[in-house]
Amino acid sequence: MVKEKGNITDLEAEVIYNGLCCYCGTCGAFCKEYITYENEIPVTKKKCYEIHGACYDFCPRTFFAPLEVERAVFGEIRTDNLLGYYKGDILTARATDKAIIEKAQDGGVVSALLVFLLEHGEIDAAVVSKTSEDWVAEPFVATKKADILAAAGSKYTQCPSVSGVGDAFEQGYKNVALVGLPCHIQGMRKVQLSKGFDVGADKVKLLIGLLCSETFDMPMLKNKLLELGTQIEDVEKFNIKKGSFIVYTKAGKELKTPIKNMRDCVREACDYCYDFAAEFADVSVGSIGSEFGWSTVITRSDAGKELVKRAEEEGAIEMKKLSESELKGVRKLASYKKQGNLKNIYEKAEPIRILNMRVDPEMLEAFLGGE
Ligand SMILES: Cc1cc2nc3c(=O)[nH]c(=O)nc-3n(C[C@H](O)[C@H](O)[C@H](O)COP(=O)(O)OP(=O)(O)OC[C@H]3O[C@@H](n4cnc5c(N)ncnc54)[C@H](O)[C@@H]3O)c2cc1C
Ligand code: SF4
Ligand code: SF4
Repeated sequence: MVKEKGNITDLEAEVIYNGLCCYCGTCGAFCKEYITYENEIPVTKKKCYEIHGACYDFCPRTFFAPLEVERAVFGEIRTDNLLGYYKGDILTARATDKAIIEKAQDGGVVSALLVFLLEHGEIDAAVVSKTSEDWVAEPFVATKKADILAAAGSKYTQCPSVSGVGDAFEQGYKNVALVGLPCHIQGMRKVQLSKGFDVGADKVKLLIGLLCSETFDMPMLKNKLLELGTQIEDVEKFNIKKGSFIVYTKAGKELKTPIKNMRDCVREACDYCYDFAAEFADVSVGSIGSEFGWSTVITRSDAGKELVKRAEEEGAIEMKKLSESELKGVRKLASYKKQGNLKNIYEKAEPIRILNMRVDPEMLEAFLGGE
């Protein structure tokens, strides 16, 4: 990893109060005495006097070296700029268990893989995201199929999921899987690869990433729902499909708005995110590219590839190769996010120094690029 140091005060200045905090829950996951989460941001509970703190070291928004992480995790670096490093074909798959399909967001692959791991004794806990009536997403330590089913489905607001890994460790679990958005996966990889702090992250055996374009800020989402004629407590399920944000109410109504109308609800930190495909996960799962009721699956590590293969062989999932035209849709969305947010990243970045040259990042190519 790149050598960088800071403490909780630096974290506040550089990330939390600088519009970069994605509320992933990594900073406080293993320092619960000092950091808690309130109103979708980390809050300091008690002053910490460390000169170099784990919170700063672990946060995916202080520093993150993508190619170093790829080399460390996968042994190689990417050849695909849009989707990251992966092994073999990109697949479309679905769970075979009807109970999973009924509860799941898309093909239920995430839940099916977790149930498979639990039932084979390969993990003793999975950190997932659960909500109550008001859709506030909280990390949840699942240890049996019923827990996995209760937490299935997408929550389009953010959840400090990595702090659930801290909960799982505190509860004594030794073989843990984490489901998370790309920012959670980045945070967890930083914890696993940290040279400065050892919190026992080798107990995290598998990271399942969800493809992600953005999450919504809860107060803004609540206002938007009122505009759409409903309220959060009346929502049964959310979905994003074919350019629309769709709300299914408990009363059986389907309310739709073009996804561009949700732009004002997007969390500020998502505007600086360049990872669509959960590029550092063992397995990434999303909906884009797959037909209704199926999931798009990208296997990246040996462990991820092996798990998906065994889950198919033992009948937990069925799968086929994603066609070239379907794959184009996945790549298009990844490119759209990267290109759109690159502009924001450039605007936010201060001039950088490379050897003796001090230059605005967007001008770098003008000085160093070829024809
Ligand atoms: C905020 C968000 C944005 C997404 N954006 C896209 C997108 O742009 N394109 C795309 O193709 N797919 C996107 N997805 C992924 C998609 O919605 C499904 O999660 C994915 O296809 C897996 O479906 P499944 O049926 O296999 O999952 P399920 O079997 O339903 O399991 C989903 C798992 O994810 C966990 N989870 C749900 N919400 C969160 C959350 N907020 N944080 C952490 N964990 C969570 C659940 O607890 C559950 O374990 C997004 C998901 C989320 C949560
Ligand atoms: S670790 Fe996550 S929650 Fe904590 S400051 Fe960084 S981005 Fe925010
Ligand atoms: S867009 Fe990026 S920062 Fe925002 S929730 Fe998704 S992965 Fe996290």
